[in-house]
Amino acid sequence: MTAPEKGPWKLFFVDEDRCIGCRACSSLWTEISSALALSEGGPNRTIRFPQAFEEFEARIAESLAEICPTGAISAPLADALPGEESFSLVFEMVRCRRCRTPFATGRELDYIRGKLTDEIKAESSYPSWMDLCPTCRRSAFREAASRELIVRRSGARR
Ligand code: SF4
Repeated sequence: MTAPEKGPWKLFFVDEDRCIGCRACSSLWTEISSALALSEGGPNRTIRFPQAFEEFEARIAESLAEICPTGAISAPLADALPGEESFSLVFEMVRCRRCRTPFATGRELDYIRGKLTDEIKAESSYPSWMDLCPTCRRSAFREAASRELIVRRSGARR
């Protein structure tokens, strides 16, 4: 970030209690700049957020606030810059029950669980598919579909 003589600055706030580490903001931002960076290693996901944007980048901060699913981001205008250029949040990852690959943050999964309707919970095996990574989930659905087909065909031959 190149510092102009004075503001206004678009500050970038992330409410730590509301952020679930979902990567929606960092996935969008990598198309534009490395100011908002994501790293995943071992059991943790770390997202580094900038503290402020120059005014011409303000619309980017606003669009990040719009795509955040939990409303954790806000971007007020300020005349003074914060002391630090960036700050990081670290999230513990959950491992896939089948392949053991870390695939989502625990807070992300809790958030999704909280959004599922009773109908979805009743009609699906959600407690088990929620514990699978996307790859294993697709495999599990394919296996279930194959099993169903075999059962149907074997029933039709009797
Ligand atoms: S989009 Fe919001 S909840 Fe997701 S990582 Fe960014 S700040 Fe956190």
